[in-house]
This record gives sequence, structure tokens and C-alpha cells, in this order.
Amino acid sequence: MGKAAERRVLDAVPDGLLIGGAWGPANGHREFAVEDPATREQLRTVADATEADVLEALDAAAGVQAEWAATAPRDRAEILRSTFEAMTKRADDLALLMTLEHGKPVAESKAEVTYAAEFFRWFSEEAARISGTYATSPAGNLRLLTIKQPVGPCLLITPWNFPLAMGTRKIGPAIAAGCTMVMKPAKQTPLSMLMLGQILQDAGLPNGVLNIVTAHDPAVVSEPLLRDPRLRKLSFTGSTGVGSKLIELSAGQVLRTSMELGGNAPFLVFADADVEKAVEGAMIAKMRNMGQACTSANRFLVHSSVAGEFTERLVEKLAALVAGRGTEDGVTLGPLIDQAAVDKVDGLVSDAVDKGAKLLLGGKAGDGPGYFYEPTVLTDIPDEARLLAAETFGPVAAIRSFDEDEQAIAEANDTEFGLVAYAFTADLSRALRVAEGLESGMVGINVGLVSNPAAPFGGVKQSGLGREGGAVGIEEYLETKYVALPG
Ligand code: NAD
Repeated sequence: MGKAAERRVLDAVPDGLLIGGAWGPANGHREFAVEDPATREQLRTVADATEADVLEALDAAAGVQAEWAATAPRDRAEILRSTFEAMTKRADDLALLMTLEHGKPVAESKAEVTYAAEFFRWFSEEAARISGTYATSPAGNLRLLTIKQPVGPCLLITPWNFPLAMGTRKIGPAIAAGCTMVMKPAKQTPLSMLMLGQILQDAGLPNGVLNIVTAHDPAVVSEPLLRDPRLRKLSFTGSTGVGSKLIELSAGQVLRTSMELGGNAPFLVFADADVEKAVEGAMIAKMRNMGQACTSANRFLVHSSVAGEFTERLVEKLAALVAGRGTEDGVTLGPLIDQAAVDKVDGLVSDAVDKGAKLLLGGKAGDGPGYFYEPTVLTDIPDEARLLAAETFGPVAAIRSFDEDEQAIAEANDTEFGLVAYAFTADLSRALRVAEGLESGMVGINVGLVSNPAAPFGGVKQSGLGREGGAVGIEEYLETKYVALPG
């Protein structure tokens, strides 16, 4: 892919904030820069919203809420369907843009564009299925109706690690349900979301339904909106620390909240597992997004009878990855998102090694001007190593071994997180026992990837509240109203 294609997709990103259907500069023409994490070069600038801009965005969302809620579900469905088709048609450009701002190899960006677009196809199908119930009260004296109505204006906040999919997982059901929105993408990767905003406008989304504000300081967006009584919901994807702060702020207006937070996924390999399949699953669960996924395998717990073979094969596969700018052919490992990410990963690896872990591969920042980190494998990790408790968010495989199933399940659950867990075994009853025993919102059995728009994605414990996707995903944007009638 040449520089001309890069320039073309960067120039196609609309300038400014999307408020009430129009793109315009931030107050005072404030801007901030977006950089390519593979080269540290500036890609372009985007608007840096002020509090006044943010309130204008909520004015726009609140102003059209009633009219939008009254549209025919089929009309909302058609907008989602057309957007799915437009994203599919423009997948190459969207993928290139995503790789430029995020760093992941283009093949991974393309997979994300497909995944992101699929949320619009899924929720286009759900929009027309919103229904209620009718019942007779037990005493027979009342008729009990329930109807579903949109929650109202929502604030959507997304992280940088999946610049499109984390947004479409919220925008899709919000449109399907009839909610209006103010969306704030992460400052590191706003370009994909700005491009998506234009695609949605082109697909016929009425002005004001989706407003996009980019800001360098996220509190400029969240604080005024979470205080404003017109806002009815916050849907957040990001770290547990920020999420819990936002839950506190949301308490002021008793807002509905959906929280997709951090993870610390255990990846269990039992004695009877197909080791080759487990290694393939591990490569996906660990290395997708360079290890920067909430679903990333953070701790490998491997039965001692297969630990040697599993570790050897994993080291071979990780050593064969080709690091570089994600736009280049043959590159299979992009950079991390920024210097803070490299420092965090390096700090966790050094801490483990200092405390006695064995380093089999990598263990330091990679070459080049970008934020690269070498694929790393650690074994013999002591209980006190910080990377067992923290979300590593990097290409680091931390391997421990176990002898008894119960020991593995107890260790897997020994975390405040509970997003996803993986288990590899050939025994169906063991698989069911383990799936039931793991404290997580999702479990992958003999697979390294669970994400699917048709499935309920979400966590337990400090990994979050609510589910995105699946048949329940739209419920996060609907209120149930009960209507009583004499029988
Ligand atoms: P982050 O919490 O730093 O930021 C997420 C978003 O919140 C960004 O848009 C950021 O600008 C905004 N934000 C940060 N501080 C804020 C504040 N004080 N007020 C309002 N908004 C604020 O997380 P990140 O580094 O962008 O993303 C990585 C984290 O996201 C990881 O913990 C990862 O596990 C999690 N994540 C979870 C899921 C999931 O579905 N559970 C999916 C992807 C990422």
C-alpha cells in the first residue's frame, strides 16, 4: 500500500466535530494531533472539543430524541443495513485508516471492520423485533401490558484498542432502539469513528441522532454530560479504574450504565488437550491486537504433563512473528499504542523476572521509532509477580503449570476480573464442569476467540455490567414500561 493511498484515506476523514448533522470546528478552533504508533509521525489533527461544544452536542441529541423514538423500526433497521453494506464496500479504506492510527496489521484491521459492520447487520435485524408482553394478573382483575421504549440520549465512550467495533457495538443497538447519542472515541484513534460518522450520515441517519465529539481531555466530555439531567445513559468501554469512576459520577443523575471493563483472562490447557490446537488458540487469544484486547489471554495455566510441549510450540510461533508497520506486506505484529503502553508492559516483565520468572523469549522493547515490544514468554512465574494480577495488555505470554483441575480453576478465578476464560480439553464433561466453575461472563472451549455480534459479550466481577451483542444487546438501550388496565 503506497503513501498516496494513505494520504487519500486520511484526507477523506471529515474535519471537525459532528453536531446536529454538520461538521464544524471546536470552539476556538482547538485541535490535537493523531499519530502513527509505528513511526510516531503525525497523521493529522482533529478537533479538540470544549465544554460548550459538548453541551451543544447534547442539545442536538436531546432535541431530536422524541422524533427519533417515534420513527418506524423498519426505517431505523434500513439505516443500519445500508451502513453495514457501505462499510463492507469500503472495508479496504477503513482498514487502512485503522492501521494508520492504531498500528495493527491490515489483515487484522480488515477483520475488525467486518466484525464492526456485523453489529449493524445484527441490530438491523433486532430493530424490528422489539416487542412487549400481555398477561392477566393472578387475581384476574387486571390486564398487564409491558412495552419497550428507548432509554433516551446516551453518552458512548470507547477505547483505542478496537477503534470501530467498540463503537458499533453501542451505536448499532442505540439506533435500533431509537436512542440518540453523543459519542466520544479515544484520543489515540478518533479517525475511524469520524469516518464512520460520515458513512452513517450518508446512509440517511437523521441529523442529531449521532453526534461525535473528539477531545484530548476526556473529562471535558464526561463531566458536563454526566451532570446534565437530559442525559439518560452512559455506555462505557475501557479500563476498570476509569469505569468505576464513571459509575460514581453517573450516580448523581441515577443513570443507566453499561460497563465493558478490563480483563485478566486465564487460558487453561488440560492434560487431554490437543496441544497443537491449544497453541493455535493461544496465538489468537494472546496475540490479536498485539495482546491489547480485553479478551487477551493474560495467564496461561497448563497441565504439567503438556506444559513443556505447549511452551516450546508457543515460543516457536511467537518467535516467527514479523514486527513492523501494519501497512507492510508480511507484517504480523504491529506496535503498541504509545510509550506508556510499552513502559507498562516492560515494567510488568521486569518485575516478574526480578522475582524469579524465567525469560524464554523477548523481554524488551523492539527496534524502530515506533512503540514496539518483542513477543515475550515467561515461565516459572512466582505468585508475587504483578503480571498475574494486572492486565498486561501486550505480547507477553505468562505460563504457569498445574496438576489438579480444581487447582487450575481456583487459580483462574483468583482475580478481581471476570470477562472471559479459555479452556482446552478433549473431555466434554470436564469442559462443562470447567465452564460452570469459571467466574467469567464468557468461556471459550477449544477456541481462542469468542467475540461474535450474535452472542452476549460482557463480564462479571470488576469486568463490567451489562452485555453487548446477542439478543440481549438491545435491552441495554430500552426501558420496560408496565401499563395496567382493568380486566
Ligand atoms: P481507558 O479507560 O483509559 O479509556 C477508555 C475511554 O475512556 C477513552 O475514550 C478515554 O478517553 C476515556 N476516559 C479516560 N479517562 C476518562 C475520564 N476520567 N472520564 C471520562 N472518560 C475517560 O482505557 P483504554 O486504555 O482506552 O482501553 C483499554 C482498556 O479497555 C483495557 O482495560 C481493556 O480491557 C478495556 N476494554 C474492555 C473491553 C470490554 O468489552 N470489556 C473492550 C475493549 C477494551
